[in-house]
Amino acid sequence: MKAAIVTVGDEILIGQITDTNSGYIAKALDKIGIEVFEMLSISDDRLHILHTLAFLQNRVDVVIITGGLGPTKDDITKTTLCEYFDDHLVVNPVVEAHVINLIEKALQRPASQINKDQALVPSKATVLHNAVGTAPGMWLKRADTVFVSLPGVPYEMKYLVDNEVIPKLIAEYNRPFIIHKTIMTYGQGESLVAERIEAWETDLPDFIRLAYLPSPGKVRLRLSGRGTDEAVLRSRIEFEAEKLKNIIGDIIVGFDEGETIEVVLGRLLTKKGKTIAAAESCTGGKIAQMITSVPGSSAYFKGSAVTYATSAKINVLKVQSQLIDVYSVVSAKVAESMAKNARELFNTDYAVATTGNAGPHKGDSPAEVGTVFIAIATPKGVFSQKFEMGQPREKVIDRASGKALEIIYQ
Ligand code: ATP
Ligand code: MG
Repeated sequence: MKAAIVTVGDEILIGQITDTNSGYIAKALDKIGIEVFEMLSISDDRLHILHTLAFLQNRVDVVIITGGLGPTKDDITKTTLCEYFDDHLVVNPVVEAHVINLIEKALQRPASQINKDQALVPSKATVLHNAVGTAPGMWLKRADTVFVSLPGVPYEMKYLVDNEVIPKLIAEYNRPFIIHKTIMTYGQGESLVAERIEAWETDLPDFIRLAYLPSPGKVRLRLSGRGTDEAVLRSRIEFEAEKLKNIIGDIIVGFDEGETIEVVLGRLLTKKGKTIAAAESCTGGKIAQMITSVPGSSAYFKGSAVTYATSAKINVLKVQSQLIDVYSVVSAKVAESMAKNARELFNTDYAVATTGNAGPHKGDSPAEVGTVFIAIATPKGVFSQKFEMGQPREKVIDRASGKALEIIYQ
């Protein structure tokens, strides 16, 4: 079953608001096995709306439209739908009673004519009850395509999707199941991961698809299965994930979207009762931000010293200036000294430190753009590694932060 999502509103097209409705609707449809093939954002313009409806007619089975249902003149989705369906507006008494009740309760005043106009709906539409607002949802069918029109306000749209649209789609259509499983990997690039799992990927059955979702320092592998037997799908996906574990178990950190390196690391430290700290130069606090994004991180995270300037490394972290003079500020020796001193300063079991040049220009040291040293101080000693993390700046920072957490994890 194919779907399209259309968001209507000039404010989206001038960049004033970002369309978040489409993502919400897409997730909800995906969960019940309906595939979204297109997302369009269009202007509050009669001709554009008409063209879009005609364009999607018979291309997809369901079109979900949001926005432009308000009572003001700029909201024209409803009248345009009427025109497309060769229909006219009629008062829906149930909606009218609901609008009057809502306005009188919430605003302590009688409903105006503009409010009551919200109860006008195309005569051919099935009304979807909007308990949290005045604009009802509308369900209209032409030939084999269903058009569902929803208010643009996100919480009203969500209410209608969850309580009206999805249950109605489930009731009226036979859909296949779609099941996703995301495998979170760390530390190796997309092409290397692809090479390692090539044989396994080739052997995947037709009803399971693999997607690579790379971001700096990590690759998420998403397995998506579709079919009519949920149990069979689920067990096959689990089976394939197990096989993957045998091939790339060394870089897998978890089997769920939420299993990020910071979450997995937090769980490990909590279990072991160990504490960590950081000393950050080129990552500028990103390591601390990642660690503290996990609820409960206070159990194991003591703090991070963001010592960006050379003077801060000397004054705050007590890195010897001689060391900086001899080896330069971006060096293994300085990273190691930062980690060792942070471990003492924060009195933790482990401390990680970064120093590098995130670019785009050459910095205080001869190091190339993208060069990062990461050091870790442990009860057994201090270790460091050099990385070339490329460009641009954001990528170097993200990769270095992820790598630092990964090094502690190991
Ligand atoms: P209202 O009755 O409030 O006028 P409406 O159905 O006419 O509702 P719009 O006027 O299109 O909806 O949008 C109302 C507000 O909802 C927008 O100003 C915006 O803040 C938010 N909104 C609309 N569409 C989207 C979208 N696609 N993604 C996120 N927010 C949206
Ligand atoms: Mg509006």
